[in-house]
Amino acid sequence: MQYKMEKPVGGSIGQEKYQCTITWRNGQFIADEPVKNGGKDTGPDPYTLLLSSLVSCTLVTLRMYIDYKGWDIPAIVVNANLFQTKQGEEANTFIDRDISFPEPVDKEKKDRLQEIAKNCPISKILEGNLKVRTFVYHEENDEKQIRYTNGDVTVVWKPDFCKHSGRCVSQLPQVFDVKAKPWVNMQGATTEAIIDQVKRCPTGALSIEYNKDRTG
Ligand code: SF4
Repeated sequence: MQYKMEKPVGGSIGQEKYQCTITWRNGQFIADEPVKNGGKDTGPDPYTLLLSSLVSCTLVTLRMYIDYKGWDIPAIVVNANLFQTKQGEEANTFIDRDISFPEPVDKEKKDRLQEIAKNCPISKILEGNLKVRTFVYHEENDEKQIRYTNGDVTVVWKPDFCKHSGRCVSQLPQVFDVKAKPWVNMQGATTEAIIDQVKRCPTGALSIEYNKDRTG
């Protein structure tokens, strides 16, 4: 399992309704809720952010294709909105994506660009087999702890907190291997690589104890 992005998109919120600070690879921006929902509208709301992703992906994909083809299409406009219907307990969400060109474009090219837009990466994610996995980080102690050490650091595993995200075993398999006994091989990688991987455990099932004179 390899994540698409080197660093995750992060976010945090305090008590200020409802300003979220979103951190991305090159900076930060504010997300908020509209006034009617109790926010101050100081930044885009979550629905807007979702639609922005599709809009920008569509624009970039079309621009790349148009440039590759050498077509003379100076500008592209995309608008997106969504609505939901309910059938019994089941809610269906429809996203409408409207594409237009301020300058005239012939029908054949428009048809081709419609197909290209349908296959932009974010469309494929939204229309594909999408699953959201949610993990909660635990800092509290658990009685059940198993320790593995290389003399330099000790990896502490709290099995009750492990939600089998697969992150450790897929990203550092030379250390974390569920088929091996013990499943943590402290000789499989450098101390730094092990520390780095333990920090990525989303549930707090893995933590590090520093031995000797080491500090974080
Ligand atoms: S990264 Fe943490 S939660 Fe995921 S499988 Fe490894 S120990 Fe379990």
